[in-house]
Amino acid sequence: MAQKEISRKMFLKGTAAVGATTAAASALAGCAQKPAGESAVPAKWDRETEVLIIGTGFAGLAAALEAHGAGSQVLVLEKMEVPGGNSAINGGVYAAWDSRIRRKFPDLPEDSAEIMMEDMLKAGQRLNWPALVKKVATESVDGIEWLLDLGTPFQEKIVQAGGHSRPRTHTTVNASGSDAIKAMLKKAEELKIEILYEHKVTRLIREGCGKGRVLGVEVETGEQKKYFKAKKAVIIATGGFCRNVELRAKFVPWLTAEFPSTNHPGATGEVMVEAMRIGAAATQLDWIQLYPFADPATGILDRPAVIPFNAPAYCIYVAKNGKRFVNELADRKVCADAQLFGVKEKPTFTIFDDSKVDEFFNREHIADGIQKGRIIRADTLEELAQKAGIDAAALKETVARYNEMVDKGVDEDFGKPSMKAKIEKPPFYAIPQWPSVHHTMGGLQITDKAQVLDLDGNVIPGLYAAGEVTGGVHGAVRLGSCAFVDCIVMGRTAGKNAAAAETPAA
Ligand SMILES: Cc1cc2nc3c(=O)[nH]c(=O)nc-3n(C[C@H](O)[C@H](O)[C@H](O)COP(=O)(O)OP(=O)(O)OC[C@H]3O[C@@H](n4cnc5c(N)ncnc54)[C@H](O)[C@@H]3O)c2cc1C
Repeated sequence: MAQKEISRKMFLKGTAAVGATTAAASALAGCAQKPAGESAVPAKWDRETEVLIIGTGFAGLAAALEAHGAGSQVLVLEKMEVPGGNSAINGGVYAAWDSRIRRKFPDLPEDSAEIMMEDMLKAGQRLNWPALVKKVATESVDGIEWLLDLGTPFQEKIVQAGGHSRPRTHTTVNASGSDAIKAMLKKAEELKIEILYEHKVTRLIREGCGKGRVLGVEVETGEQKKYFKAKKAVIIATGGFCRNVELRAKFVPWLTAEFPSTNHPGATGEVMVEAMRIGAAATQLDWIQLYPFADPATGILDRPAVIPFNAPAYCIYVAKNGKRFVNELADRKVCADAQLFGVKEKPTFTIFDDSKVDEFFNREHIADGIQKGRIIRADTLEELAQKAGIDAAALKETVARYNEMVDKGVDEDFGKPSMKAKIEKPPFYAIPQWPSVHHTMGGLQITDKAQVLDLDGNVIPGLYAAGEVTGGVHGAVRLGSCAFVDCIVMGRTAGKNAAAAETPAA
């Protein structure tokens, strides 16, 4: 019996699934060399659509709305019971150098796509792919205007987050990405875009020796396996892999299970790996970010954990010995490394006073944090230190020295570029913090049109990707508030371009 026939029979019996793809592959005539994961094409598809999107986070939903808007039939698959992935638990901060909100603050320093791009490149240690950074920075403004038009509620304030040289971080009203996810889902529902939950993509199906088109996907739902065909394109928007300990430790061996993660449980990266099996190239997989200010007990990025990020110019970070250990406006890698490899003793603390609570933080969120025992408040620095377990005399000395340097306008100790105010107005607050695995900067290699590339640098026909599953936008270090914008800009791009893709002749 011909190899092809044997292989097809095995496939139909279900014995030639992922692990048996080599057999299926060797059955393809004329394929001397091929990726180990070459996927056999099913004899019968259970369902067809034009653009098939995997994932319901920012990138997937943005892609779905744009692909539908461009006139394509769209189907979205989500493996979890609920939508949103990391996007739904995100802190709702979005970087854009301009917006209708930013224009309400004419005193803010000048900003531009070029300055934002330079900040992203600097933090990324210039490993970022310039075309991708340029695209994200340039279209950040269009992206936030699109979100506002969809009804995403944003606060009327702009903050300067760590690693950014300008105040450009916008925050949704509830400081949660779910504000945007809800707005996008509402629109998707109005447009009758179908989303199938508890549909886990287990294989990407590509024809022709690792050279052909991506035709569709294999899905597990309940006990069933199904095959969905995408007549125009598949868009991978499955997020990162912080929750896959084995996978992340392949790239960063010390990121073992000892480290908790801020991510939702579905951030496991299997579709990224599957894309690599069918020939996709990946880039910078060993750049994995730790969020420096997570809850030290759980590793979760809760509301108190966002405070240190929102206004580092008004906070200091200290160790239990009461001493500062880093420039608080440095990027996340610098702050996390300073804790893990400098301080070495868990937890460290963000310290701030009451003077900027109304302007930059949220009094209700702080009250809630105090009630939950996540935030410590006291009328004096001494009392604060005692309650938090910090060396009290050293903390008082550190704050006195910091205030002196605010007067001088120069941080002689750590080179913090912007020291906006003294820490002197009671009550004082302390938030315990410690790094937790947060973001995978690496992922699939894409063009600025969101097309996935193969190992030879060729576009894989019928395959697009956007969001955290891709690599190269952020390089070594992603700046806070730059993932939201990456997902929106590249998700929209993937949706538009996938919709414009040609449908091959049947
Ligand atoms: C707690 C937290 C707070 C954050 N806050 C911010 C912030 O304020 N600003 C910012 O810029 N960035 C922030 N980030 C980062 C940012 O939220 C993420 O990078 C972004 O949400 C990723 O979006 P995405 O669409 O790529 O993936 P996700 O939002 O993770 O969505 C991917 C979806 O794909 C689904 N999926 C995965 N595999 C499969 C499969 N096999 N089959 C079917 N479906 C699958 C997942 O279940 C998930 O729903 C934060 C991250 C975390 C964890």
